[in-house]
Amino acid sequence: MVDRFQKELGGALDQLRGLLEDLQRLGIEQISTAPDPFMQPLCSREPESIGGPCRIETLEEIRADLGDCRRCGLSEARTRIVFGEGHQASSLVLVGEAPGREEDRQGMPFVGEAGRLLERILFAMGLSREGVYICNVQKCRPPRNRDPLPEEIAACEPFLRRQLRALRPRVIVSLGRFSAQTLLATSEPIGALRGRWQSYAGIDLMPTYHPAYLLRNPAAKREVWEDMKQVMVRLRHEDA
Ligand code: SF4
Repeated sequence: MVDRFQKELGGALDQLRGLLEDLQRLGIEQISTAPDPFMQPLCSREPESIGGPCRIETLEEIRADLGDCRRCGLSEARTRIVFGEGHQASSLVLVGEAPGREEDRQGMPFVGEAGRLLERILFAMGLSREGVYICNVQKCRPPRNRDPLPEEIAACEPFLRRQLRALRPRVIVSLGRFSAQTLLATSEPIGALRGRWQSYAGIDLMPTYHPAYLLRNPAAKREVWEDMKQVMVRLRHEDA
């Protein structure tokens, strides 16, 4: 009896070892033991309106809940909330930092010069702006494009989490230091984070540089392209 148990335990450990080696080969270096919030049922505050107590929210409902948001001080100087836009069933979601002047004016993410560069990167990947979903960590423009304050992030980040839960993409690409550090709750510099697969609530996340940084440092385009090639492989792996 004891022998049989030891044999079965040994077999299970061998399987686990094999699985961990496979994950390592795929570039996954850490496994979170925290419960995956994306797998938690979400309970609407108005269950009677949807015919059941728990389900995944839609982006439209999240946008409606955000409303004319005044949850943090960034609401005072903003022109428009930049919620995010794109293909809701896309395997890829790109998360930037916060709206700039042009995004604030138009209410759309990545519409300035950095946005045009992002479109060219997507094109080189065989994708289009319309084929992916693009949003920011922060939905209102910080004055003079300063970094958002901790309390501003705390007020806005739950909406991003809800968006990502609704979208549930195969891959998230975080663009820039602020996005990577916020999503991964780390202070590691972007130069150390980029190019290495991470996990955000069970979703593969690739940090890379922000297109605005590339406009100032064109030499870094080569590194971004290396990161995006890894993304393409992982997306293709899903299609296979
Ligand atoms: S930044 Fe986010 S939390 Fe702050 S006012 Fe805008 S939408 Fe609301």
